[in-house]
Amino acid sequence: MSDPTVERVEAIGMEAPLEEPFGYAQAWVETRTATLVRVETSDGTVGWGECWGPVEGTRQVVESVLAPHVVGEDPREVERLYDRLYDVGRATYQTVVPLPAISGIDLALWDLAGKLRGESTSTLLGGARREAVRPYATGHYFPKVEDVEAVYEKVVGEARENAEALGAVKLKTGLALLGYGPEEDVELVRRVREAVGPAVTVMVDANYAYDRTDARRVGRALEDEGVHWFEEPVAPEDLDGYARLSETLDVPIAGGECHTPSEFDRLFETGGLDVAQPDVCIVGGLTPARRIARRAHDNGVPLVPHVWGTPVALAASLQLIATLPGDPWLEFDRSLNPLREELCARPFAPDGDGLVAVPGGPGLGIELDEAAIERYRAE
Ligand code: CA
Repeated sequence: MSDPTVERVEAIGMEAPLEEPFGYAQAWVETRTATLVRVETSDGTVGWGECWGPVEGTRQVVESVLAPHVVGEDPREVERLYDRLYDVGRATYQTVVPLPAISGIDLALWDLAGKLRGESTSTLLGGARREAVRPYATGHYFPKVEDVEAVYEKVVGEARENAEALGAVKLKTGLALLGYGPEEDVELVRRVREAVGPAVTVMVDANYAYDRTDARRVGRALEDEGVHWFEEPVAPEDLDGYARLSETLDVPIAGGECHTPSEFDRLFETGGLDVAQPDVCIVGGLTPARRIARRAHDNGVPLVPHVWGTPVALAASLQLIATLPGDPWLEFDRSLNPLREELCARPFAPDGDGLVAVPGGPGLGIELDEAAIERYRAE
């Protein structure tokens, strides 16, 4: 029998409008979206991937620009196919490579490669070092209210709950979205620290709300609060700003969800990141994320992947985290997302020890509920 080849690539847009929007430094989130990529081989095996970003555009790039370059190919040759898709993307757009669209295909190929070999993706990535991972809670977004006291109350309440459940919480700053500023941001962190106590790990994510001066000031205040890391203090394009802040501040500087593989190279060279956070649905998939993980390790930088998607994103991230040295974290999004909770029969949840299990193989180790996919399928 001949080896199975890629027969069909389909991009499925998903949209879940939220009853209550929530905010972070850059925008209000009104709808949770994802583009799933379904790759089927000539023997009927199906692999799943996920792309970050809006459905419009992403779907067309996956199906029209990229898919023709993997159809007919052996899905187990993932690294070669990733490199080809990267080259196709660059030749097509010149100034940008559509990395989120490539991510969806790359993840689906890693899922397929595992399924065709009867092994988990973490085994193919070099071998799992653990079966479960410690999560930290992402959430604590801003409610759409005018009174800053109401914002504090909502965020402190949520942080208290998440701290009790997981022992580690990541806060959002960037209250300029609501007309406030860095002082109110620092006050928010102070109030949460006071509420959760000194034993809880508290991270802060500014989603590049600041210029360098404000980032320095806020960063010093975060040091006083014992903050574990300061994420995306300045714009992702300001690579030198990352290096300077990392040099100046004692609080570790984190970032990566907005960075390309080559920007990670530069950030490692200049010491701009103390924590590296590539997202497997944004950076191009598991192939570049694993390369970045190796470089991070060589530079003494822990890797904590950014995760904000559906169970496909969670499973793929867990497959990577399972292989990392040290004691890595899982970014565990607790904000409202019906796609994350409903696309699998059983959503990811912490076990009795507060750890999230890495799904067993083959492949990414998840089964999607096709009825739920239909429920949220975008036009
Ligand atoms: Ca972030």
